Parts: sequence; structure tokens; C-alpha cells
Amino acid sequence: MSELKLPTRAEDFSEWYNQLVLRAELADYAPVRGCMIVRPYGWALWENIQQALDRRFKATGHVNAAFPLFIPLSFIEKERSHVAGFSPQLAVVTHGGGEELADPLVVRPTSETIIGHAYAKWIRSYRDLPVLINQWNSVVRWELRTRLFLRTLEFFWQEGHTAHATLAEAEAETRQMLDIYADFAVNDAAIPVIAGRKSESERFAGADQTYSIEAMMGDGKALQAGTSHNLGQNFAKAFEIRYLDQKGELQYCWTTSWGLSTRFIGAIIMVHGDDQGLILPPRLAPIQAVIVPIFKSDAEQAAVVQAARKAHAELAGAGLRVKTDEREGFSPGYKFNDWEMRGVPLRIEIGPKDLARASVVLARRDKPGREGKSSAPLAGLPAAVRQVLDQIQAALLQRALAFRVANTFDPRDYAEFQAAVEKGFAFAYWCGSTKCEDQIKEETKATLRCIPLDQPDTAGRCILCGQHAKQKAYFARAY
Ligand SMILES: [Zn+2]
Repeated sequence: MSELKLPTRAEDFSEWYNQLVLRAELADYAPVRGCMIVRPYGWALWENIQQALDRRFKATGHVNAAFPLFIPLSFIEKERSHVAGFSPQLAVVTHGGGEELADPLVVRPTSETIIGHAYAKWIRSYRDLPVLINQWNSVVRWELRTRLFLRTLEFFWQEGHTAHATLAEAEAETRQMLDIYADFAVNDAAIPVIAGRKSESERFAGADQTYSIEAMMGDGKALQAGTSHNLGQNFAKAFEIRYLDQKGELQYCWTTSWGLSTRFIGAIIMVHGDDQGLILPPRLAPIQAVIVPIFKSDAEQAAVVQAARKAHAELAGAGLRVKTDEREGFSPGYKFNDWEMRGVPLRIEIGPKDLARASVVLARRDKPGREGKSSAPLAGLPAAVRQVLDQIQAALLQRALAFRVANTFDPRDYAEFQAAVEKGFAFAYWCGSTKCEDQIKEETKATLRCIPLDQPDTAGRCILCGQHAKQKAYFARAY
């Protein structure tokens, strides 16, 4: 860890983020511009995200599979709006085995097309439906402006792809996955999200309907943290995904896709982090508690380290993710700062005085100083640690929610709207026209984040044009 202090979030939020990602050893820059090396600490966080989601996918009947990295370029061209949306971002392979390829290949930017091709072969009758497959992989989109986790050429994610007999089933699946993302964000990542529908211009290329969960970052900007698409019959028609119904008639399937990526790590950093560094939600933290032995003499060291190792074994045995920092040549103060910067939710201090009382000091990452410190007996430590971790998890969610509420505005006119998006979210009536949406984006740099599923009962007037408006939408500047 560098001795230099991070810039504060108020000074330079963007630089705070960039330096923190590197110093906390979550990720590093790669030799190819825009690519990312995910370091072990960052990958361990991603693995915990994967497990939390995968458990939910499987509980709702989904299975995992792996589809190829290469997709024939001709596949991408089959669905008109899909090719229009993705063409500028494609990485195309023109040579292989020392020869120019007769048919160029694209490195998958997403897998609707190649999976659609497979589904067309696999699905014959209504008895084969629904097909509920997910894959964990990486995809490539040739982004021009990149930032670690938030926007990289290659990123890691999961992409679910399902096929159904009816529109109603496809829509139910789309909404179910949105709910799963929201449940994961709130309950595992302690990130409050707004679930809603995207406007037409913000939809996925090839979707009839896109839903997203949107979260407010620590600087008031929005981040789209997961998306779920109802693809209608667009890909089914492009790839001939058909089934024989109960009457023996050939029908096109209805398909969906949904994804959540390593961007989500960016959200965790920006929602919970403070000027000291990361704060990881206990349910996802690679290390939930770090034990720091404190001693001066060799005799003290022997006793303290022995007690630390015993506590470590008990905590690990109880299923907690724990680390004991036995690094030599570093003061306890240095270690405290280091683990604080890296966001470990709870620090357990064991020194000679604690040992004499058969207790330890628990220090919460989310409450600096005295306020976050308590003492716990060594006997029954796992239960005490688990209880504090639960309190931290709940406190992080409450804090993030309070921050979002405090920075969400209900503007009465366009001037108030403009002021609102300088600070956070504007929740405003919108007439539904793309023209108003575009003009707002042009003038304020705020985009329509989503039209929330929960709508007020009242109607109002569009914040820009003043026309009758039946719905309210969230507008914000976004990552
Ligand atoms: Zn309008």
C-alpha cells in the first residue's frame, strides 16, 4: 500500500475512484488500452457476486452452459436493430491459422445470435419449452472511453437467455429476473435500486422492452446495475426459433435475455466507499473480518499470536471469511489503515490487555473511531462477529438509502430540474416523447434512467414541454 493519501471524494471523485481501484488491488491496467486485469482481491469479490446470483438463478430453474467466444459476422447481421446497435463496437477476427478467413468472426459482444442459432436446432415442440439457460463469460465491446470496472473493452458478466411459448411467459421471466437483480443488489450488496422500464431510445438493440435497476453513486450520478430484456419475437424470427404448439401448428418462440456484469463492482465501490477507501458489504466481502495481533515483546507476541490463530480457526470453522494479518515489519496502525482502505467490514484487535480479559476489540469499518468499537469475549466469538457483520450490512443499506432520498428531487419546473441533476436524481413527469428526452439530454447531460414500475396515481405536466404526462421518470447523469 502506498503511504500517499487518497484524494477525498469531495476533491475529485473520479480520481478517488481510479486510485482506490489500483491501491485496493482490485484491478490493474492491461497492455491493451481499455482492457482490465482483475486482481485476486477483485476476483474474489466477483466470485461472491457470482455465487449470490447463481444461487438465485438455479432456484428459479435456470441452468448454466457455455457457448463459443467466436460468432460468425453474418449472425450479427441477421437482426436489424441488433447489428445497428453493436456494429461500431465489434472486434472482428479476419485471420486464423495464418490465413485470411473467408467468413470473418466477431468476438462476442453478447450472445443472443449464437444462442438463437442453437435454440433453433434444439427447440421442436411446446414440450421443449421453456428453455432457461445462463452463461458466465466475458464479452468484448470496443469502447472508446474506458474506466476500470465501469467500462472496459472486455468485461465479465453473466448472460441469461430464455425461450418461451407465449409473450406473457417471456414478460414474466423478464420481470422475474429484474426482481432477482433488485433482491441481490439490496440484500447482498446493500445497494438500494430503482427498478423500472427503459425509454425506447435507451433500450437494448433488438429488444421490445428493456428493464433495469438503477443505483445512485456517492457523487449523485446514476449507474445502471443490471438489465433484463424482453426480446419479443425479434431474434426468434431472425434465427427461426420455432415450436409446434398443442394443435400441431408452427409458432415462433418469445425470448428474453438478462445480464449483470463486473460494472457492479464499480457500483459497490462508489456507493459505499469513503475518503479512507473501500467499504465492502459483509455478505460479499472476500474478507469479512481481519484479525490484527498487537504486541511489543516477544513473550507478548507468542501469547497474542496463539490466541489470534485460535480465534481465526473458530471463525473460519463457523463459515466466516477471516484473515489474520501476521505480516512482520508493519505496525498495527499501518495494518489498520491498510485493511480500512481495502474495505474489510470488521477488524478484530487482540493485544495483551485484551488477552488478560479473555476478550477482543471489534472495530467496524463503517463507523470510524470510538463509535464503531466494542469489546467481545473470546468465548463465543463467531456469534458476536456474525451479529456485528449483520449490523454493518443493515447500516450500509440504510446509509445508501438515506443518501439517495436526500439527493432525489421532485422538481416543479425546468429550472429546478436543471439544478436537481447537478446534485442527484430528478423524478419528474415526462410526456413520453423522444424529442423531450433528447432535448433534456442535450441541455443537462442527464439521461432518462428508468420509468419506475411503481408510479404515482396522479397525472401531471411534462417537465420540459408542459404537455399532459401520465408517468414520472428518473433522470440523472450516469456512468
Ligand atoms: Zn414533453
